[in-house]
Amino acid sequence: MLQDYIDGKWVSSLAKASVPIVNPANGKEIASCPMGSSEDVNRAVAAAKAAFTTWKNVPAIERVQYLFKLKALLEANVDELAKCVTTEHGKTFVEAKASVKRGIQMIDTAVGMPTFQKGEFSEDIARGIDCKTIRQPMGVFAGIAPFNFPAMVPFWFWPFAIASGNTYVLKPSERVPMTQKLIFDLIEKTGLPKGVMNLVHGGKEVVQALCTHPDIKGLNFVGSTPVAKYVYETGSKHGKRVQALGGAKNFMVVLPDAVMDKSVATALESIIGCAGERCLAGSVVVCVGDETYETVKAKMVPAASDISVGDGMDPGVQMGPVISQASKDRIIGLIESAEKEGARILLDGRKGVEKMPGFFLKPTVIADVTAKMRVAQEEIFGPVVLLAKVKTFDEAIAWVNAGPLANTTTLFTSSGPAARKFCNEIAPAMIGINIGVPAPMSFFSFGGSKESFFGDIKAHGAASVQFFTDEKIVTERWLSDSNVW
Ligand code: NAD
Repeated sequence: MLQDYIDGKWVSSLAKASVPIVNPANGKEIASCPMGSSEDVNRAVAAAKAAFTTWKNVPAIERVQYLFKLKALLEANVDELAKCVTTEHGKTFVEAKASVKRGIQMIDTAVGMPTFQKGEFSEDIARGIDCKTIRQPMGVFAGIAPFNFPAMVPFWFWPFAIASGNTYVLKPSERVPMTQKLIFDLIEKTGLPKGVMNLVHGGKEVVQALCTHPDIKGLNFVGSTPVAKYVYETGSKHGKRVQALGGAKNFMVVLPDAVMDKSVATALESIIGCAGERCLAGSVVVCVGDETYETVKAKMVPAASDISVGDGMDPGVQMGPVISQASKDRIIGLIESAEKEGARILLDGRKGVEKMPGFFLKPTVIADVTAKMRVAQEEIFGPVVLLAKVKTFDEAIAWVNAGPLANTTTLFTSSGPAARKFCNEIAPAMIGINIGVPAPMSFFSFGGSKESFFGDIKAHGAASVQFFTDEKIVTERWLSDSNVW
């Protein structure tokens, strides 16, 4: 049974129930995760609140030294972390390692906090009067993570939170909690003062307690849209700052002037990478014009049939399983709905996996998808390529802009003016031009729009300092009767 990490110690959860953690490549139980409650949250928040009283006064330049130490430890253990990600999540070892490295890159930016947290100063805003701003940490923040990136997603937030002087409580996904155990072991090795970072395991009950706890100042959430909305509304109602990143339905538009071979390969990788379990995964490939559509179809099917599927720890495997049998069943249900609604299955990923243990699907390619089909509207989170055709670029833009889960979008083209028009008119906030997974680096902000993001300030980047600090504005003048100096 996994333990919580509270006030610098590993402690047993007070939970009365637990859930099994299963290796999705073989269906075998590998650990169990306690399903904590508000009592566990209270313990962790109390520790974080107590730690804040001293941590907030540690100079930023000293606070980030712990992150420098952690970065070295993470790099030394990157293979072990990646192996754990593959074992509990299923993505390939190569994908897992890349995701851990992406997480470590967050530290590269968060250590810039002494610079980001600087205030502003203006001399003589009026005669003899100066004005300055001070950015101060606020207290305890909490993070709630999804299953699809067990290592990386929490790094989008907490290094920035603690570098700016706050303390933190993290709740990983109860489906993939093991990698965070390893990361917290490394955090402990840095000598970070007790109570600054805390880990509580659980599900819905822990999330509810975090959203309503009076001593939590802000929440970072990543997960599906219904839960993102709940966390945003409940957290806000309880006086908290909230960044809530939700689900995604991502469209990729192919113009006739795209470099076809490379565009198809890039679109396929976007859709089937991590078995489609990425919030930046492409889903519907909208081809402009008959010729573009026929070319993409002809190239996509053989490329997708070539993908080798298996246990992500096996070398040469390009795609692992999806997370659970329930997830596999849901994806199959969506493929069936497309068939019923008149789409054509060009490659059927339900076939060829019958004898495999675990929760495997092969890539599926579906053609003649239209905007009203269920499969074109719902997030699939599985390796399903949807091909659609429109007559004009404007029609493609209108289709993309009608989608509520506007996280990311990609345009394949060789035309600068077309790319410029796309960036100007398209709704999703993260845009790729000939890039299939346009994940912003740690020094830029990350987040979608519409029903894919709830909040004001997006994740990571320099803007993080605004989320994790409060600004004071000091207007000052110094009065004297005589020049005593
Ligand atoms: P999820 O919403 O089921 O779970 C996310 C977190 O919320 C977990 O920690 C879980 O314990 C908790 N939770 C689940 N149900 C809850 C409930 N009813 N009440 C309170 N808390 C609850 O999401 P998931 O399946 O773990 O992750 C996949 C989703 O996350 C996809 O929709 C994906 O697009 C999204 N995601 C988005 C981004 C982004 O940047 N926008 C990044 C990664 C994943």
